[in-house]
Amino acid sequence: MHIDNSQTQHVSTIERAPLRELSPEVAERIAAGEVIERPVSVVKELIENALDAGACDIRVEVRGGGLRLIRVTDDGYGIAEGDLEQVCLRHTTSKICVFEDLSRLHTLGFRGEALASISTVSEVTILSRAIETEELGEEHAGVWITLQGGEIVECGRRARVHGTTVAVRNLFYNVPVRLNYTRAMRTENGHVVQLLQRYAVGYPGVRFNLVVDDRELLQTSGSGDLAMVLTELYHLSLSELLQEIKAGDGEHYRIHGFIGNRVLAQSSRQYVTLFVNGRWVQSRRLQEALEQGYRGLLPKGKHPLLVLFLEVPPHEVDVNVHPGKLEVHLLQEQVIVSALTQAVKTVMEQSPAVPEAVQFPGPALASQRRLPGPRRRGLHISESAGGYRAGASEPGTAEVIASLRPLAQLQQAVILAEAPDGSLYLVDQHRAHERVIYEHLRRTYAGVQDSQVADAHLLLEPVIIEMKRYQAELLEQRLPMLRGLGIECERFGGRSFLIRSVPVGEGSEQLAAHLQELAEMAAEDSTNWQDQLLIGLACRSALRRGRVLGEGEQKTLLKALASTAAPAVCPHGSPILLHYSRTFLIDKFDW
Ligand code: ADP
Ligand code: MG
Repeated sequence: MHIDNSQTQHVSTIERAPLRELSPEVAERIAAGEVIERPVSVVKELIENALDAGACDIRVEVRGGGLRLIRVTDDGYGIAEGDLEQVCLRHTTSKICVFEDLSRLHTLGFRGEALASISTVSEVTILSRAIETEELGEEHAGVWITLQGGEIVECGRRARVHGTTVAVRNLFYNVPVRLNYTRAMRTENGHVVQLLQRYAVGYPGVRFNLVVDDRELLQTSGSGDLAMVLTELYHLSLSELLQEIKAGDGEHYRIHGFIGNRVLAQSSRQYVTLFVNGRWVQSRRLQEALEQGYRGLLPKGKHPLLVLFLEVPPHEVDVNVHPGKLEVHLLQEQVIVSALTQAVKTVMEQSPAVPEAVQFPGPALASQRRLPGPRRRGLHISESAGGYRAGASEPGTAEVIASLRPLAQLQQAVILAEAPDGSLYLVDQHRAHERVIYEHLRRTYAGVQDSQVADAHLLLEPVIIEMKRYQAELLEQRLPMLRGLGIECERFGGRSFLIRSVPVGEGSEQLAAHLQELAEMAAEDSTNWQDQLLIGLACRSALRRGRVLGEGEQKTLLKALASTAAPAVCPHGSPILLHYSRTFLIDKFDW
């Protein structure tokens, strides 16, 4: 399989193709659209051009919310002197030639429209020096050209090393509607910061630098290490808070990336980032696939810090479906959608919480509003910068839990246990048991047909419950399904129901006190009422906090937890495990 790994590109390995004007037939088949809607779209296009030119160092300068100046400087392969006058012509590109080139695309650009659109609504100066002139004398120093409203007004020579600088001044000076629209400078600056953060994360091997109105708001080292980039962006030592994600089928896709520990979870999706072949995409379908992966494993409304790179063979992705190139079509969409969900889920289900309240995002984001102070380190857990956890070589969470040695019970609620590597685990007994019961109920429920009766625990006395009218109707319809779970329930006239049995399990008798509440869950007018009911049943029958557990019971519970699919998270999405790693102890005790 040929997969484009754009993250590791280097200028010396990238070759420039000649600039050509696309034929009208090809131009016509390319999804057209207004690419320059606001200042941040200019920044995006210029950064993508720099990346396409194999740049390792990209500097962005913005003034006046991008309306006064946007300048992007790169150290890419530059523009050949003879091409400079044509780069601003519409449909002039060095990236594709015939339409079929789109199916073997290795660049972010392909329309030859960005510079053309930008130059018609601003004053553009492009200074460039082609890499192959580097050995020649100073008379080949570099050439520049200035366009106003798309017309060339000046040109000349100036010294510089290879690479390109594009300066865009007075953006939208001739489009008054746009000018009004982008008044909110601060908002626009915020968008630019977010954009740069995304590219920095997407291209860890590229150094990025952003200066807004003389203030440096972002800088990365281009070390190539994603964990390091995240540290640089958010000023947090994240090495112990990131879990690596890796998956692939050797044919249609390869997935790699990182997901942040639950302590980093946020109320917005802003930190969920997906790149497809180096292209940041915002496909609803793929976004949904990722959410599906962590749904139920984080509290409702919370989203992880998640950075994923999906690589697919270029001919299995169609990038020509959205003018802003934010959407893609994948040939093997279904396969990839489930792979994304599974990849995220697998890691989330196994990832214990860590014992620190982490303030995330770090000061980097706050700096959109004020000057960043001297670089602060938020959390300092481990000095092994970049030494992220590579899940593969370490024992899995299930394995670790199975080998835990219980030491004591804290507050009759938490089991303290030692792992073979000398680290400490805290296990919430109620949530652990809840997880065990929930998965048991799910298996039972999935295994029975509607008409079948599951093993049931007969209550000492049947319990009568009263429902509201609409609930009574729904409940009545669902009685056969409840029977499948071991809940014997029958209508008892009017809106009353009689419950005779509950699912079998240790805590069955405990359920008797909660039947009204559970019946209401079973009568919930929602599509996921079944799962909610199973969660409710698990929660109400699980061991409570305040129950003393003997050593044997503690061991049994840990064993049972180890055999679940998601030992780190209770069915409500809260953590079951808290892990004090060896490095944490070493660090905190100064050993
Ligand atoms: P596209 O990226 O779709 O080709 P653009 O209008 O963005 O269209 O750029 C037109 C052409 O200008 C590119 O194909 C490329 O040859 C050249 N170009 C633009 N920016 C750069 C850059 N920073 N370095 C080298 N070449 C560039
Ligand atoms: Mg481009």
